[in-house]
Amino acid sequence: MRVASVAIAASKLATAVGIDAPREWKTAAGDDSVEKGTYRQGTELDQMAFTGWVSGFGQMGNTRRGFSLVRKDWEEVRTFRLLFSHENQRRSGEELRQASLLNQAEMTRGTRTSQGRRHYPETWENMSAYQRNPVMTNLRGSTITWLGHAVVHITTGKGTEILIDPFIEHNPKYPKGHKLPGRIDLLLLTHGHSDHIADAAAVAKQHGPEVVAMVELAGWLKSKGVEKASGMNLGGSYKVKDVIVSMVEARHSTGIEDGGKTIYGGEPVGYVVSVDGGPVLYHAGDTAVFLDMQLIRDLYTPEIAFLPIGDYYTMGPKGAAVAARYLGVKTVVPIHFGTFPVLTGTPEELEKELSGSGIEVLKPKPGEALR
Ligand SMILES: [Zn+2]
Repeated sequence: MRVASVAIAASKLATAVGIDAPREWKTAAGDDSVEKGTYRQGTELDQMAFTGWVSGFGQMGNTRRGFSLVRKDWEEVRTFRLLFSHENQRRSGEELRQASLLNQAEMTRGTRTSQGRRHYPETWENMSAYQRNPVMTNLRGSTITWLGHAVVHITTGKGTEILIDPFIEHNPKYPKGHKLPGRIDLLLLTHGHSDHIADAAAVAKQHGPEVVAMVELAGWLKSKGVEKASGMNLGGSYKVKDVIVSMVEARHSTGIEDGGKTIYGGEPVGYVVSVDGGPVLYHAGDTAVFLDMQLIRDLYTPEIAFLPIGDYYTMGPKGAAVAARYLGVKTVVPIHFGTFPVLTGTPEELEKELSGSGIEVLKPKPGEALR
């Protein structure tokens, strides 16, 4: 029954999004970790074949299901990932469209070859885990790249370049040879510890961003020759191009080490980055979990959270799982783990803590772009 209902739902969906399906479709195996097989059902599906997978059996009766359409010559693959409830399975394609599930679901994958054609891996099994399980939150034109530790690079659909917590030269997890864009518009700093600001002045001088930080930290940076440093404070928002940056609370400390002295760096913070027409992202900085993360949810409704999980200096996977629930996010990208031996938390532990929650944990490699 489950197989049949996925097939029927997928068929309705294909109709709803207007897929122009060729008559011949090659089939491929489904996700072997969950439910393997190819589903072909009834006259509606005579024109296409697709692989299906079912994952994340939720306690609420919601199941994340998806399917891929694969043409015989591998010229085109479309992947859909949906949150189906039993109720949704009974809806017509048009109803599904109206429920705007589709807005979040579509994603085309593959890379263009030099001839401009899309290239796809030979088999489903050869695909990376990320290719098989595309990001559930639709980034709507934005690209996010984790660069090891707490370094995150965001490029919005309109081309605004944002870098958070530059720890590059001495960051053992920074992807070797990774080049930052020549122009960076915004450099956001969560607090004054060296594993977050070590390369801030260098990046500011080389890439010319406006630097946003807590007022005391911004003041210190100015004293180090960073001209465009804007000091904000908790609760404030600031619009730059197509993004609104909001400075939010974090539970940590923030002394700045400078010439053998520790200088007061204000309060540590996190940031909500709301992209116009794009996703709302939250970078927690270094923090413990705290109940007021629910205020961040109420005020900004973030969709994707970059959460520290390494433990010791910040929350570990257990705390991060509670944080993800408080924040109401759909997707978590774990950060601040594995950089040093003491940061022992792992994404797998976080996944375990979040199993059944419907919250997805993405595990990109440093430097791997999420689109
Ligand atoms: Zn840190």
